[in-house]
Amino acid sequence: MIQIDDAGSGSLIGGTGIGILNTENNQYYFEVIPLEFYQTQLFLQKAYQDYVIKIVKNGFRKLNVNKSHIIELCQGYMFDKLRDWLEKNKYQWKSTKIEGTLQLKVEESFNQYVISLGLPKDFIKHARYAFGFHRLLKWVFADLENRQKLCKIKWKSWQKWGNIKKSIYANNLGYVDYCLKCGKRIKPPLNVVTIEYITNKPATINLHNECYQGKLNPFPPVFLHQISLTSKICSEKLPKPDIKLEEKITLRKIQKNLVVFNKNGEKIGYLNCRLGEKLAFWMEKGFNWNCVIQDLSENKLLLLAQLT
Ligand SMILES: [Zn+2]
Repeated sequence: MIQIDDAGSGSLIGGTGIGILNTENNQYYFEVIPLEFYQTQLFLQKAYQDYVIKIVKNGFRKLNVNKSHIIELCQGYMFDKLRDWLEKNKYQWKSTKIEGTLQLKVEESFNQYVISLGLPKDFIKHARYAFGFHRLLKWVFADLENRQKLCKIKWKSWQKWGNIKKSIYANNLGYVDYCLKCGKRIKPPLNVVTIEYITNKPATINLHNECYQGKLNPFPPVFLHQISLTSKICSEKLPKPDIKLEEKITLRKIQKNLVVFNKNGEKIGYLNCRLGEKLAFWMEKGFNWNCVIQDLSENKLLLLAQLT
């Protein structure tokens, strides 16, 4: 039997791999739909579906496939035009779910291909959702100039997220991370360049100073422009100071905490969440947030902070 499957059609990085296997003798053929099919007008014409036919012709020649073979192919949209072609040329074929040897082989071939493009081995091998869009986007943003050439840039998701505003600033890292430019460990504490942005959730990329050559954009990241924060009410201040909804309050950094003061200058609460730390970082650089109380409960305040 001959089986045909694809891998990487959902990967932001690289073209799409097509694999063909003769299950009788284990002969295997693999070829990639080139990136230009995802970077030019060819994409809108779905010309990659025509290119699949070309790859399959090459593979059939290599594996000596003829009309006596039974052909199984994956059900995906990638093979829409191939199905017509097989029908017209009177092959014996059916669409089915491809599992087992071929699936593993074609995924492994695709992995090798993206590694050859520069994606670190570890990035793929140790992650369940190795080819998740937002994960790959981080890798691309770590070296946008060189890596966007490797992307399926005609994708709607790239059009949406590929050029979003990023905060890029000098930072001192206090936790262990991996530099997505060189792939090596960042040993804290270390001065680094941090890139932050928000897609469906906030994202942070840390790079060795020597791994970043572009310009800085030292401005609070978009996800900090308007944020809700929860503050614990100071318990040592009982009876409680006067707290009213919609009241304007101020935040000040005292030691490690962001402390909340009411308009009379009384300490009413403190924040020590990660967002609070980030806010404190930018406040020290001179940025200001307007802050009001949105909600209050027995021991918590909900604050809305807006960058001025
Ligand atoms: Zn690095």
